[in-house]
Amino acid sequence: MKAHDGMYIDGAWRPAAGPGVIEVVNPADEQVIATVPAGTVEDVDAAVRAARAALPGWAATPPAERAARLAALRDVLVARQDEIAETVTAELGSPPKLSQTVHAGVPIAVTGSYAELAATYAFEERTGNSTVLHEPVGVVGAITPWNYPLHQIVAKTAPALAAGCTVVVKPAEDTPLVARLFAEAVHEAGIPAGVFNLVTGLGPVAGQALAEHPGVDLVSFTGSTAVGRRIGAIASGMVKKVALELGGKSANVILPGADLARAVNVGVANVMSNSGQTCSAWTRMLVHHDQYDEAVELAAAAAAKYRDRIGPLVSATQRDRVRGYIAKGVAEGARLAAGGPDSPHERGYYVSPTVFADVTPGMTIAQEEIFGPVLSVLRYADEEDALRIANGTVYGLAGAVWAADETEAVAFARRMETGQVDINGGRFNPLAPFGGYKQSGVGRELGAHGLAEYLQTKSFQF
Ligand code: NAD
Repeated sequence: MKAHDGMYIDGAWRPAAGPGVIEVVNPADEQVIATVPAGTVEDVDAAVRAARAALPGWAATPPAERAARLAALRDVLVARQDEIAETVTAELGSPPKLSQTVHAGVPIAVTGSYAELAATYAFEERTGNSTVLHEPVGVVGAITPWNYPLHQIVAKTAPALAAGCTVVVKPAEDTPLVARLFAEAVHEAGIPAGVFNLVTGLGPVAGQALAEHPGVDLVSFTGSTAVGRRIGAIASGMVKKVALELGGKSANVILPGADLARAVNVGVANVMSNSGQTCSAWTRMLVHHDQYDEAVELAAAAAAKYRDRIGPLVSATQRDRVRGYIAKGVAEGARLAAGGPDSPHERGYYVSPTVFADVTPGMTIAQEEIFGPVLSVLRYADEEDALRIANGTVYGLAGAVWAADETEAVAFARRMETGQVDINGGRFNPLAPFGGYKQSGVGRELGAHGLAEYLQTKSFQF
């Protein structure tokens, strides 16, 4: 057990203002592996002051130099990739391979993409008789969840730094260790003092203090819709800018003529990855009634293969929440085709990979975000019915369409109310804008669209 102290503020590890600590638990064996300080209002205030003091210098730093610092940060993340992966496995429980490729790998790609964008983005443009400047928004307060703990920090920090903003991050209480590692990487990369600051702490204390701080110009939040709504209200009350990346309940639409086995297998893999703790996971599989029974059988067989491979959920609370949803699915009349409420292991916060059949669109498990390894297979009568079901939730973050050919899949995807759609198994693109329609959020992350969130315009007329 390691007791960490200090917050990374103004380029150094400073003692926390209060005595409180947060225990970090390894969800695979339920052991406490570390403690970190529970930040207070004073710690947040010190961090925001440092970020404000550093803002004029960093905003005036030429984009090419900001790009060079981001490239250096990417190189440190590459050098420390194994350590990052091991840390995420220890505090989140994700299997080592996933930690390497996704939890450590994606932040490297995203940081690299912003090193390039900072160097090439048009921070000044001409329109008619005007010059338009794209200037940094100012001090960013970033509040992040635990499910992709480093990615979510990087998806906010890298574009903010590229834009010339300074940042205070409040990471999730379950996964603060990789956030501390990231602060070390920022330091090693030679990013000036105060440009990046880290305060660990509880959401309702440190998170709320950050959202409410008058020295923060933009609050960028990823997490639950319930907390996002509160943060949106705080920000709009203070006329601050706000970006919200919230929940999802994405549809995986398999049209007749698609490669059914591939669509089902990729769909199940998508839901089981990261133990289902992915906001953009395709948790509703929509299948034409003629192929329904075959799809359920394929999905159940695919899910069973994950029983020994799947990682735990992040915490006992999360496990109990997911089990509660499984019980609710059964109570509302859905049929368990694989898995169920029993845990596959005695120790650790595991939930069996679960597939529900005979799910109807109005059921709780078809409407609410479960955030666990639980797939619902729904039946549709025709394309219009499929579209109604796909669009029939309050969310709109991601989705997938499978069809005999791309044109047919794209025609369907154009009518979906959602921020991203993978066509016939399309690959993740770190440059594609990510974010939600409807209650899945406000704003976009990644690529040039993600950079634009951290910029505001000023125009000169000649
Ligand atoms: P959460 O909303 O409970 O916590 C997220 C962050 O907010 C944490 O850092 C937490 O400490 C902080 N927080 C909690 N209460 C707060 C308050 N009152 N004021 C300020 N900050 C507060 O969410 P979670 O359980 O950690 O994460 C799971 C949720 O995140 C899921 O609903 C998931 O869909 C969502 N999510 C969305 C995306 C996306 O990009 N759309 C990505 C990942 C996760």
